[in-house]
Amino acid sequence: MSTTQTNKIEIIKASTSKIKDVDFDNLHFGDVFTDHLFECDFKNGEWQKPIIKPYAPFLMDPSSKVFHYGQAIFEGMKAYKDDNNDIWLFRPDENFKRFNNSATRMAMPEVPEEIFMEGLKQLLQLDEAWVQKGNGSSMYIRPFMIATGAGVMANPSDEYKFMILLSPAKAYYSGEVKVLIAEHFSRAANGGIGAAKAAGNYAAQFYPTNLANKEGFQQVIWTDDATHTKLEEAGTMNVFFRINNTLLTAPTSERILDGITRKSLIEMAKSEGINVDVRPVLVSELVEAAKNGSLKEIFGAGTAAVVSVIKGFSYQDVYYEMTPIENSYASQLKEKLTNLQNKISEDAFGWTVKV
Ligand SMILES: *Cc1c(COP(=O)(O)O)cnc(C)c1O
Repeated sequence: MSTTQTNKIEIIKASTSKIKDVDFDNLHFGDVFTDHLFECDFKNGEWQKPIIKPYAPFLMDPSSKVFHYGQAIFEGMKAYKDDNNDIWLFRPDENFKRFNNSATRMAMPEVPEEIFMEGLKQLLQLDEAWVQKGNGSSMYIRPFMIATGAGVMANPSDEYKFMILLSPAKAYYSGEVKVLIAEHFSRAANGGIGAAKAAGNYAAQFYPTNLANKEGFQQVIWTDDATHTKLEEAGTMNVFFRINNTLLTAPTSERILDGITRKSLIEMAKSEGINVDVRPVLVSELVEAAKNGSLKEIFGAGTAAVVSVIKGFSYQDVYYEMTPIENSYASQLKEKLTNLQNKISEDAFGWTVKV
């Protein structure tokens, strides 16, 4: 009866734009949002008419399931504007697939591809002026879904809201990062929700990360929950280690998120002739490599920072620091990937999609 007419997204335009109040040179990551958002509700077993409307707070029933049982998932992706003012997405199909994998794991409905992709494209077109060119500028895109159904019965909601927000971003420099290797806390466990971009995974990370901050470490390197002997992720990023001239990273699993930056860097490094070994990486071999000097680099990989260099780590109260190196794999790969994303270099992998 009610077919979803996604090609007919209703658009309600903001009467004025906030863009003139934005200092694009001094953006703080994730604080500023564009004039509009995309919204589509799920009710009576179907997706309703999608809408693009002015960015604004909205009302929810206090018993909405998201507040009580945490049914909430999200994605993080970016759009870039090239010198011809064309806007490009980076591997959006991967975000779309992962979003629906997360939805399935959290007993939420899948979002149809037309709603996700058309919503994204039309929102970017409408707020096109907010997508800045050059110098590490991008548009951070936050699709998310929450359980809006009312009632505190502990079962999956029958109503959901899917939204897309846009937040302009500058190149993100995380500074000199020192990390603590987790010996007790875990980010994820076998059979759990670590492979989903579920909001609760982040909530669970805040407390151990705060403890690490108090000890002078910016992030935690998560180890496997059962033995704490395998290196799995760095904060909210996947993690790479360079021992001699080999780049190591753990295989994805139920505990490790299938990062798009991670898989892109693996492919890119291989095409550059770098030896990449995807296998479990042990804490013991990292400590050994740090002691004998064969550990050259550690870096995190994720959409927001792309590549984030880690200068040292602490394990069992001993701090190990690497000697900074020229022309690191981290800097080479970051430059190659960001040039491809920004359409400065040719996209030999076919990863960029025009809006
Ligand atoms: C999102 C995320 C990543 C990085 O994924 P990208 O697709 O590269 O942005 C890594 N680890 C966790 C836990 C994440 O939530």
